[in-house]
Amino acid sequence: MSISKNLLNIKSSLPEHVTLVAVSKTKPVCNLMEAYNGGQRIFGENKIQEMAEKHEEMPKDIEWHMIGHVQRNKVKYMASFVNLIHGVDNYKLLQEINKQALKHNRIINCLFQIKIASEDSKFGMTFDTVSSIIQTEEFSELKNIKIIGVMGMATFTEDLNLVEQEFNLLKFSFENLKKLKTTNCSMQTISMGMSGDYKLAIDCGSTMVRVGSSIFGTRNYSI
Ligand SMILES: *Cc1c(COP(=O)(O)O)cnc(C)c1O
Repeated sequence: MSISKNLLNIKSSLPEHVTLVAVSKTKPVCNLMEAYNGGQRIFGENKIQEMAEKHEEMPKDIEWHMIGHVQRNKVKYMASFVNLIHGVDNYKLLQEINKQALKHNRIINCLFQIKIASEDSKFGMTFDTVSSIIQTEEFSELKNIKIIGVMGMATFTEDLNLVEQEFNLLKFSFENLKKLKTTNCSMQTISMGMSGDYKLAIDCGSTMVRVGSSIFGTRNYSI
């Protein structure tokens, strides 16, 4: 199967309200261009350096999403162009994003990453932490960021019941955060679901899926 055929297959299976992020990490620009020529405009990367290089080389109407763990000292390398940062998992990072966005006179959209997986390895904050952050005065003064939703990663497991429970937890967190009155939050996006579980994620309320290997094929991290 070709990349453009994979892309078409997936797109045709998505409801209209669900946005597809094509996760292109580790893949060469020629692969991304095949998806681009097939109509894809939103790409997700998990390394800032790699995303910045691809952004340089590729057409400028692409929306770049940072889906990986973000180190504070690297925010400056993407602040001029990134469209959405999915993995905001601490307040200091948010302050840094705000500071760098201000330098470029931009407002950067962000998602709070919420820890939904029972396994230890996943990043993210608890619902309570997020809820208290967004109700502080300090948060409301961050004028160059906008929280537009939440992101989560389910446990890597065959146990779909567990994955479903975790997706439901993210949806529940989203609905509750949405009820809070805050200034620079406009809760509209739930980023959940990858190649193996995006259909289930959509059933559980996902509005944005991050699909990599089902579009570009399996990744080879050794090269
Ligand atoms: C790699 C990655 C994906 C895509 O995974 P696939 O299983 O290849 O679809 C989605 N989300 C995040 C955060 C990732 O790092």
